[in-house]
Amino acid sequence: MTTLTDPLIHIPPPAERRLALRVTPAGQRALRNGHPWLFDQAVAGVSGRLSPGRPGDLAVIFDDRRRFLAIGLYDPTSPIRVRILAHGAPETIDRTWLRGKLTAAVAWRAALPEAGTTGYRLVHGENDDLPGLVVDRYDATLVVKLYTLAWVPWLPELRAAMGEVCPAACVVLRLSRDLLRRPEYLYGLADGSALIGAPPADPVPFTENGLRFEADVLRGQKTGFFFDQRDNRARVGGLATGRRTLNVFAYTGGFSLYAARGGAPEVLSLDASAPALAAAERNFALNRDNPAVAAARHTVLAADAFAALAELRGRGERFDLVIVDPPAFAKREDEVERAVQAYARLTGLALGVLAPGGILVMASCSSRVSAGLFFATVHRAAQQAGRPLHEIDHTGHAIDHPVRFPEGAYLKCLFATAR
Ligand code: SAH
Repeated sequence: MTTLTDPLIHIPPPAERRLALRVTPAGQRALRNGHPWLFDQAVAGVSGRLSPGRPGDLAVIFDDRRRFLAIGLYDPTSPIRVRILAHGAPETIDRTWLRGKLTAAVAWRAALPEAGTTGYRLVHGENDDLPGLVVDRYDATLVVKLYTLAWVPWLPELRAAMGEVCPAACVVLRLSRDLLRRPEYLYGLADGSALIGAPPADPVPFTENGLRFEADVLRGQKTGFFFDQRDNRARVGGLATGRRTLNVFAYTGGFSLYAARGGAPEVLSLDASAPALAAAERNFALNRDNPAVAAARHTVLAADAFAALAELRGRGERFDLVIVDPPAFAKREDEVERAVQAYARLTGLALGVLAPGGILVMASCSSRVSAGLFFATVHRAAQQAGRPLHEIDHTGHAIDHPVRFPEGAYLKCLFATAR
């Protein structure tokens, strides 16, 4: 038997003393409105310590008249300098506090397992009052994903609180790319470390609306699966009967499987990632006992979506249902224009392979592109392509992705038909 060393052993505890921050009038306004982020430009001064502060220090923020505004986690390495934990009145941030937030997050998702869903988001960062922290459940395995180094010193307390509220045989830690660039604040932590148990040797099984999936929680994108699209996938299932389906940016075949179960005779999964498509094929194999899935002909195409759509069109391939769920094109404000152009191009390309009377499903997860801008872009591009869209519906996130601040509403999805 191998003894695993606790990966948290070298992490120093959170500092006892707190930083005191003064902020600009704009920063004060944002915090009074309950916004969970304080940007670096909004910090007018830091006191309370000689050193400039470490990620994870607690920062107390005051207004011009030294009145308490908020308390949050300080991160000198991020433009989001403080992620707010409590607005308006001071709170003691400790294991009890964490337990309270986790308990509320778990209660909010209580109905999901009953609906045949054992893979879902348990903690959705800012929207569950735990900014920069995501916890995804894959049945018996939990995946903690950090989007700020500020959570690192709090991991021992977080792990203990999780053990009380949502105990799991295995808890895996994932670190976003930005964090891996600052090893001096990781204290030996690696992406994919196990906080509880051993890292899973194989992809982890879970169910979503009764469909079986597996996810690579150690290496997969995000934490291994995109739970935010669950309701949109279910909707696709309800629209797929008899429709030859193309799933663009298919990843591990989420939308594809719902289409097959919904009665699509043929499904083509298109993605640039060959390993993701191999996982999609395995996910199909896991659901062979479903007659509709077994009857559907599923094929995969590993290619660039833009080039492949043009080529499929040239070959005269047409589909009755086309799903386009690209990666985030705009993470920064200066990328919005390019993202909008990409959405317009994809709309035109998708319509090029959409049969008359077919259904187009277009999604965007770029937080910087608003719902209004995205829907208008898709409609305009369709008009320019001579295939104006008739909207069936437009939707957002599933229930485990609550939206409590403007930037939290990143996912939008349009369902439409074109003659
Ligand atoms: N629809 C999926 C999630 C899509 S994530 C689901 O429901 O699970 C975005 C996917 O786009 C990733 O799998 C990534 O490999 C793929 N991708 C990114 N750029 C691409 C490109 N230019 N062409 C094809 N696929 C691409």
